[in-house]
Amino acid sequence: MKKKVVILGSTGSIGRSALEVIDQHGDRLEVLGLSAHSNRELFLKQIEKYKPEFVTLTDKSAFDELHKQAASIKTQLLPFDSGITFLAGHPDADIVLNGIVGAAGLQASVAALRASKRLALANKESMVIGGDLINDLIDTSGGELIPVDSEHSAIFQAMLAGKPNEVRKIILTASGGPFRDWPREKFAAITKTDALNHPTWKMGPKITVDSATMMNKGLEVIEAVQLFGVPPAQIEVVIHPQSIIHSMVEFTDSSIIAQLSNPDMRLPIAYSFFYPERCKSAFGQADFGSINKLTFEKPDFEKFPLMGAAYRAAEEGGTVPAVLNAANEIAVAAFLNEKIGFQRIPEIVIKVMDRHNRVENPTYDDIMEADTWGRKTTEGLI
Ligand code: MG
Repeated sequence: MKKKVVILGSTGSIGRSALEVIDQHGDRLEVLGLSAHSNRELFLKQIEKYKPEFVTLTDKSAFDELHKQAASIKTQLLPFDSGITFLAGHPDADIVLNGIVGAAGLQASVAALRASKRLALANKESMVIGGDLINDLIDTSGGELIPVDSEHSAIFQAMLAGKPNEVRKIILTASGGPFRDWPREKFAAITKTDALNHPTWKMGPKITVDSATMMNKGLEVIEAVQLFGVPPAQIEVVIHPQSIIHSMVEFTDSSIIAQLSNPDMRLPIAYSFFYPERCKSAFGQADFGSINKLTFEKPDFEKFPLMGAAYRAAEEGGTVPAVLNAANEIAVAAFLNEKIGFQRIPEIVIKVMDRHNRVENPTYDDIMEADTWGRKTTEGLI
């Protein structure tokens, strides 16, 4: 029996990598449903190739265009505003890969876990803004979550070497992004092209800018707190420019377990599909002769203030991480639209966070309200 996979965000970087994993393991995996936002051209090619039973586009105008072609595509087209939750909770789905960008992904994660699915989670915002909710659902629903973020997949794998109460700290590695070696004086002149030029990973534009500001690592600290139940003070960020060690766990006996491979998202995706089994992979083999050296350095919290802001949000909890994330999504979009400069991203995000009145133990609606408030406040400041 083949496992049926739903891929949310199929035209994005994660979604395309996930489809390559399915290509490689066509004897064991098949596509049940696909969703994307607005890239209709690529989406139509994917529909033709994978012949999923269900598809949807979440962008209204892209959906309307696709709807005109519905008769010729021989698949069930789901409504643009509810298709994702239908797909994530479909009775026939075995695995739901959530590769949606941003806070919009939380709803799908909730739907997948409520329906007791295996949630292969690449949408880190689900854990950042709704970690408490997601953890409650995992405890009560019978669903399971396997992280796809490369660092968290590494930590998940390293954790298998000991018990939770034997963990001393998590060492979260970061490439450092394109501006690791740039002096702070040059930050004012950073362009969109500079920021989109990531040294080791090929990813979508939002996460690539987050890597350049180091916000991505900050969000990953919050994600790790929620996934592994380790307090922020026991999570250490280490710059490792080669991106070969994807993260490490230090245990109480001072042993450190690391997970290594070439940087290739198809590896953590395949791991999340086949866990606890290890599949035969044709990708990502590391060649130590050509890697030559692995280096490490401390991160610069002054040059990259969003990392410190994320630690603060992780400590404060409640709706603070949701506001941090919302403000960042809007600020990054403004930077990509060339409305604000690179340095204004952390400035604005921290200002919005300072203005927020935290709600403790937030419900789903509290989180969404904080998210909306964060977006509006950020837009106002921009
Ligand atoms: Mg990552």
